[in-house]
Amino acid sequence: MEKENPFDLSGKVALITGASSGLGKHFAKTLSSNGAKTILAARRVEKMEKLQSELKNDSFIVNLDVTSKESVNSLKGEIENTIGQLDIVINNAGISDPVRFKDISEDSWLSILETNLNGAFRIAKMATDIMLKNKDGGSIINIASILAERVGLNLASYASAKAALVQLTKSMALELARSNIRVNALAPGYILTEINQDFFDTEEGQGYISKIPMKRLGLESELDGALLLLASDASSFMTGSVITVDGGHVINPL
Ligand code: NAD
Repeated sequence: MEKENPFDLSGKVALITGASSGLGKHFAKTLSSNGAKTILAARRVEKMEKLQSELKNDSFIVNLDVTSKESVNSLKGEIENTIGQLDIVINNAGISDPVRFKDISEDSWLSILETNLNGAFRIAKMATDIMLKNKDGGSIINIASILAERVGLNLASYASAKAALVQLTKSMALELARSNIRVNALAPGYILTEINQDFFDTEEGQGYISKIPMKRLGLESELDGALLLLASDASSFMTGSVITVDGGHVINPL
């Protein structure tokens, strides 16, 4: 039956990786308050327990390290055996290690790709396996960045991983469309979170902000429209899309 409000997520189960802080924590709150049951997955369980107590709807906590095949497999078992359903995936866990290209160590390069690209792949593959088996379709949202499209100083590994994540998004979308599994990416610009506030208060941080046409950072809540659109049936004909939410940052003048 078609819902009166196409953004309503009641009856759906959403997995959010990296739900212990920042955007992931916010995404979990947004999906929950719009009706979804949530699976909070990250490494810091005590932080997710606090988040769980603030959520409106049922939620499950899973200890997850996206860099570990075993950890992702055990999440798969939990979803299949205990939760039994998976409709929405927010592939959000990510890290960065800003450093000049000439100074990047191979270990740093590999760790950024391991979390931001390989980790996202592992979660997307695990979710696809479940969704194909359940035959109910689904929506996978990969959290990319405007650095998938443009480049910035000291972020070669991060920008490379996010650009590859966008290509993964489009490749998956192409192949999974026939199974009604939609795969899209959300590309935020600079969004204020609990961990970057101090940096953006510095002179260097203010310099970054001056390059954003809207001359300010985005708020977590300003990602809600795009997130809910992609997660819900309101985007039932969208797949392979990348939605940029950045105050005009990628269109700043050359
Ligand atoms: P954050 O550091 O607050 O959150 C990242 C989350 O990922 C944390 O919960 C962390 O514990 C988790 N995580 C990291 N490695 C993990 C692993 N191996 N296994 C499981 N969880 C892991 O940062 P954030 O700013 O909230 O970033 C969230 C996502 O949004 C990232 O993918 C980031 O690249 C992207 N992003 C953020 C911004 C921004 O301005 N904040 C802009 C563009 C894109």
